[in-house]
Amino acid sequence: MANIVAIVGRPNVGKSTLFNRLTEQRQAIMDNQSGVTRDRHYGTAEWNTHYFTVIDTGGYVVGSEDVFEESIRDQVEIAIQESSVLLFLVDTQTGITGLDEDFANVLRRSKKPVLVVANKAETADRAHSAAEFYGLGLGEPYPISSMTGTGTGDLLDEVIKHFPSEGIENPDEGIPKIAILGRPNVGKSSYLNVLTGQERSIVTNIAGTTRDAINTRYKAYGKDFILTDTAGIRRKARIDSNIEFYSTLRALKAMEDSDVCIIMLDATRGMEAQDMNIIGQAIKAKKGVVIMVNKWDAVEKDQRTADVLRKEMIQRLMPIDYLPIIFASVHEKQRIFQVMEKAMQVYENKSKKITTSKLNEAMQPEIEKYPPPSLKGKFVKIKYMLQVPTPSPTFVFFCNLPQYVPEAYQRFLENKLREHFDFDGVPITVFFRQK
Ligand code: GDP
Ligand code: GDP
Repeated sequence: MANIVAIVGRPNVGKSTLFNRLTEQRQAIMDNQSGVTRDRHYGTAEWNTHYFTVIDTGGYVVGSEDVFEESIRDQVEIAIQESSVLLFLVDTQTGITGLDEDFANVLRRSKKPVLVVANKAETADRAHSAAEFYGLGLGEPYPISSMTGTGTGDLLDEVIKHFPSEGIENPDEGIPKIAILGRPNVGKSSYLNVLTGQERSIVTNIAGTTRDAINTRYKAYGKDFILTDTAGIRRKARIDSNIEFYSTLRALKAMEDSDVCIIMLDATRGMEAQDMNIIGQAIKAKKGVVIMVNKWDAVEKDQRTADVLRKEMIQRLMPIDYLPIIFASVHEKQRIFQVMEKAMQVYENKSKKITTSKLNEAMQPEIEKYPPPSLKGKFVKIKYMLQVPTPSPTFVFFCNLPQYVPEAYQRFLENKLREHFDFDGVPITVFFRQK
């Protein structure tokens, strides 16, 4: 959990009361789950689906009532360093005290957001007197009552505004994830080594000598992406009979985690059943796919070989006819960057959002020209369509009788979508809903 909110302030202002209010419910759940008694000075809180850790700094220091001791100073310094937001708790019953000033002096020097929280403001009178805490030079005070909960909603609204963007929670969020998949020995490790310019996996001629799957952040063409290397995952399995199962499992997981899969084949062996399985899996998982036929250098060929092979492969993959196929050689560095470029394009296609008006503009005339055929005397009328906000392109067509749309017509619509909008390399989903 990346976001930490620290409650600081002198003794008796209500830090532990606020801490309990913010963490109570969550904490009970977590304690039950783990079966351990937790340090009650750390807890998890949630506000509008933002989860964060709350620290009651007071729990760590037994400070005296009126002296700003060294230990308190240390505690505040640490809180400043470790937190995303600091809640500086003061007491509307007492007003500003000398010790509050001491805290304020330290907090003003911090670069972290500090919110002055004027506690014990159950009554309108005390809520008004909260204004006094402007005087601490840390901005507008938030009047709350930790005891009743008054004002804590507004405070939390403000707190979550200060959380660093999603990117901090997961620095890889929003960056295309590309997995390189394929049977053993097709050249995955060799490819990664060339791309990343490092001897990051040990490549040998013997299948099964490379290391575990690894994610590498990679930059090219001004784009950032993450490469998942699944080469060598079979090494880990100790018993031979488990090797296949283990590598399949790991490859599936890498596939699951990715946006686009580069599925590598060995040109000297052609497309085998196992290759087709991997491709089929990726399509089922709604991943973008680029087929890279490696070791093109080792194939005897003329001008037509690539075309003939491509057609053959597409034929065998029917009805999946939208996957880019690139003939490449890692050894000769032939088209290896083109493969990456294509993978990025496929990612763009996969993330594409088409407006409802553009979609209807393109598709309505197609439907008018070729309306759904009548089935058992029923006539299907498609009224309109829209793209659903899902991770892979999904389109819903609203009509009167969804159950009477034949599968062939569904494929027709998919093909028309592909004609109008570039979905090269991307599985798309079409379904029908009653309207
Ligand atoms: P800490 O030393 O800063 O952790 O303060 P505590 O949470 O132990 O609270 C000190 C005293 O203030 C306790 O007697 C609390 O019951 C009381 N207190 C805490 N919050 C509130 C509040 O919102 N309103 C009132 N009236 N009393 C409060
Ligand atoms: P992985 O198991 O898929 O990671 O495959 P490796 O990267 O370990 O490569 C397996 C074998 O294929 C090694 O002997 C590589 O040198 C060889 N290899 C990789 N790329 C090419 C290529 O483009 N052309 C040829 N002829 N051999 C290659």
